[in-house]
Amino acid sequence: MALIVQKYGGSSVADTDRIKNVARRIKEYRDQGDQVVVVVSAMKGVTDNLIGLAYDIMPIPTEREMDMLLATGEQTTIALTAMALHAMDIEAVSFTGAQAGIKTDAVHTKAKIQDISPAQIHEALDAGNVVIVAGFQGQTPEGNITTLGRGGSDLSAIALAAAIKADLCQIYTDVDGVYTTDPRVVPDARKLTEIAYDEMLELASLGAKVMQSRSVEFAKKFGVVFEVRSSLNDNPGTIIKEETTDMEGVVVRGASLDKNQAKVTLVAVPDHPGMAARIFKELADAAVNIDMIVQNTSHADEASTDVSFTVEKADLKKAQQLFEGLQSDIGFNEVATDENVAKLSIVGVGMRSHSGIASKMFETLASENVNIGMISTSEIKISVVINLDDSERALKAVHAAFLEDRAFD
Ligand code: ADP
Ligand code: ASP
Ligand code: MG
Repeated sequence: MALIVQKYGGSSVADTDRIKNVARRIKEYRDQGDQVVVVVSAMKGVTDNLIGLAYDIMPIPTEREMDMLLATGEQTTIALTAMALHAMDIEAVSFTGAQAGIKTDAVHTKAKIQDISPAQIHEALDAGNVVIVAGFQGQTPEGNITTLGRGGSDLSAIALAAAIKADLCQIYTDVDGVYTTDPRVVPDARKLTEIAYDEMLELASLGAKVMQSRSVEFAKKFGVVFEVRSSLNDNPGTIIKEETTDMEGVVVRGASLDKNQAKVTLVAVPDHPGMAARIFKELADAAVNIDMIVQNTSHADEASTDVSFTVEKADLKKAQQLFEGLQSDIGFNEVATDENVAKLSIVGVGMRSHSGIASKMFETLASENVNIGMISTSEIKISVVINLDDSERALKAVHAAFLEDRAFD
């Protein structure tokens, strides 16, 4: 008998037929005598619809009310999934994030899990139930509902697997594993049998939405080995785990494209100590996450510098308003924004021990006539900001250069 956490994403619970399909899969494990905790997302499209409703009412809704609204999506699914199990004579009980003991900080819309008290889950399991938990949500110590950032049901599942010391954590989705890149964009993408936490973490934070990046960070921290697989077939999935020495043999494990980035440039910022600290403190205080940063003093005007950084598109209005309000205080000339950008990245732990990868990537982009706007690198990744309109063509070219025709898994 094993203790299993299974997470089903939005497309796996997209309609009542899919929910019944999920119930049948849960039953297979129950029939083997396993204890199952199921985490479900909102039905496909529901979270986006709810966000649309909020923006119909006002341009910047308060984040507390946004969480109150968004959490309803997952609550619909837990009840329907429990009913689908009841209809098959399987005992099941649904829990909100709060009932599952998921406590978070109060940073609404991207709250961090602080603690999980799974006593109620254990009680329900011991009483013979399948436990269905609403993903993506938790509760502050004051009792306010929070959400964990888009794609946050992955985090709910991994955190619960760690908290209850599950034997197995399965993330069911609409593709049968983690691929070298998004198979919907590049049909030649190949399924990986395994991938290291650090590689998955980079791919996820660089745009591969198959896993929420914070969930992978959590899995790495607590050593939760998990499998990404399809809810629609029984193909073996991809195992995400600690790096092993043979993984370095593969130089580039995957590529990703993030179309959700926007670029902000503060033009002609006075070039003296403390300016960058001030700018990025303002953003941190406003809970705006920054990704790439480029600062370059102009030779023509050494007294000032342009500071560019990228933020998620959803945070662009907030960042723009923030700096428009600070323009005279900080003393720069203008806030310029560009939403027509994308970030293309390649990732692999093997980059640590191989050279020439950046030049090959830049040559590939040059041969496609793609202009590079910003570059950033780490030991195991290279990212470039390019024009959104070029981005899928660029991804295909980079994938062909690094990831096709190789038997690596
Ligand atoms: P869920 O609703 O199950 O959480 P998501 O839509 O969040 O599913 O994630 C699954 C999607 O991630 C796939 O449909 C696929 O288009 C996309 N994706 C992006 N990059 C990858 C990748 N490298 N491997 C597999 N899927 C990827
Ligand atoms: N329903 C939430 C979202 O769409 C959480 C999730 O699906 O993981 O982002
Ligand atoms: Mg997801």
